[in-house]
Amino acid sequence: MTFPTRTQPAPHSRLISVILPVYNEVAVLSELTERLVSTLDTERHSFEIIFVDDGSTDGSAEAIDTLATDDDRIRAIHFSRNFGHQAALHAGLTTANGDAIVIMDSDLQDDPAAIPRMVSMWESGFQVVYAIRTQRKESPLKRVLFYAFYRILRSISRVDIPVDAGNFGLIDRRAAQHIVQLPEVSRFYPGLRSWVGFTQTGIEVERAERHDNTPRVTLSGLLSLARTALFSFSSTPLTLFYAVAFLSCLACFGLTSFTLFQKLNGAASTGWASGLITASFFGTLNALGIAILGEYVVRIFDQVR
Ligand code: UDP
Ligand code: MG
Repeated sequence: MTFPTRTQPAPHSRLISVILPVYNEVAVLSELTERLVSTLDTERHSFEIIFVDDGSTDGSAEAIDTLATDDDRIRAIHFSRNFGHQAALHAGLTTANGDAIVIMDSDLQDDPAAIPRMVSMWESGFQVVYAIRTQRKESPLKRVLFYAFYRILRSISRVDIPVDAGNFGLIDRRAAQHIVQLPEVSRFYPGLRSWVGFTQTGIEVERAERHDNTPRVTLSGLLSLARTALFSFSSTPLTLFYAVAFLSCLACFGLTSFTLFQKLNGAASTGWASGLITASFFGTLNALGIAILGEYVVRIFDQVR
């Protein structure tokens, strides 16, 4: 994947790109655009807004085309079908021209008013500024799941992924270039943003309520994203097999001693001792084999990335 090249403008006036994935959000697109444009107009930098229509079927596609026709700082990208939120972010990143790139949701949950704060952190030298969500206004189940997810991920991840920081945030063009070039198919953007490094900081941003009660990312979509995050940024599940192998080994020793003792005392029936010893021995060998194979898989994964 190539990233568009552009000449570096004068440092006082730079370009900010805002990427918004859209999936059936027609009800709020004009309000969102108004709020965004009025916020970005107060910045001394110029801006572009990139809507990525992820296969909407409610007229969002036509709405963003109209917005793009009316204002040449607005661009529209259309997917041929619904590919998912993370794919839309990726498409936006590959086409953004900005010196800094803001990623936010298009359902009014991410407040455009936080962008100037992110921009000023960026101007002061931070290359990645992410929003730390305070006061999630979501269902108790979702809040508990998100709370647990971020903390589990942080505790087992090989990368320092901040808790309660979703997609909303700003990244410098250089960080974006590296993220775009990563060849992963299953992407978890907050993890990639941490993985890429540079100087990072978080600012607290209150997460607003969704404009309607129908999240476009379904619970099963969120679970699948959680799996991507856990398996892409942690090899702890694999390390469990070393623990299993170790425990199986202890069990094997114990069982072998016990069955041999019984056998020598004539308390065992024919075939019992040999059956148990063989089963526990090969159980241990299996777990060890999976752990070793996993080591190679993790190395291949890291090498590919
Ligand atoms: N979205 C998308 N494709 C999808 C699902 C969602 O582009 O398949 C967009 C959606 O329009 C919104 C953002 O991604 O702008 C976040 O979606 P949602 O609000 O459902 O996620 P949540 O805020 O619940 O994490
Ligand atoms: Mg949302």
